[in-house]
Amino acid sequence: MTVLEIKLIPDPVLRKKAESVKVVTNDIISVLNDMAETMYDAPGIGLAANQVGILKRLVVMDCSTDDEDPNLIKMINPEIIFSSTEISELEEGCLSIPEHKSIVKRPSNIKVRFLNIQGSEEIIDAEGLLSACIQHEIDHLNGVLFVDHISRLKRDIIFRKVKKQIRENEK
Ligand SMILES: [Zn+2]
Repeated sequence: MTVLEIKLIPDPVLRKKAESVKVVTNDIISVLNDMAETMYDAPGIGLAANQVGILKRLVVMDCSTDDEDPNLIKMINPEIIFSSTEISELEEGCLSIPEHKSIVKRPSNIKVRFLNIQGSEEIIDAEGLLSACIQHEIDHLNGVLFVDHISRLKRDIIFRKVKKQIRENEK
């Protein structure tokens, strides 16, 4: 397994729509394994393929807490098939927007359908952190970032700060 390079804003690949996976091949499984390794190495609780420059509909996540066993979930072509009208607010961050967090409002409960690595369909009901994490990662596959859900003012501040960080890192 390989730790892949995580793309940071304003990399254009983060704004592209990823393509559906037609067949679950060994190459796809190998990409998912590398993504999981990259996520744990960062460390983060979720990673979408766009974030490592691959435009395929693949996400990995592990929203377990420190006192729980690891719970690695790999999803191929995930699709939200139900969203509650009830809304929750949670603080989110993103490996592609380092060091910035913001409260994001999203549907509290969702149902997600995806293919597992065996190529069979699974449906998961999610709430709380897992629900927010799944929605955040599926957003990535559509070129959407968590900062798109906050006010333009807050977003502009974050983008300006990140640009400044990048400039300083290049010095
Ligand atoms: Zn993210």
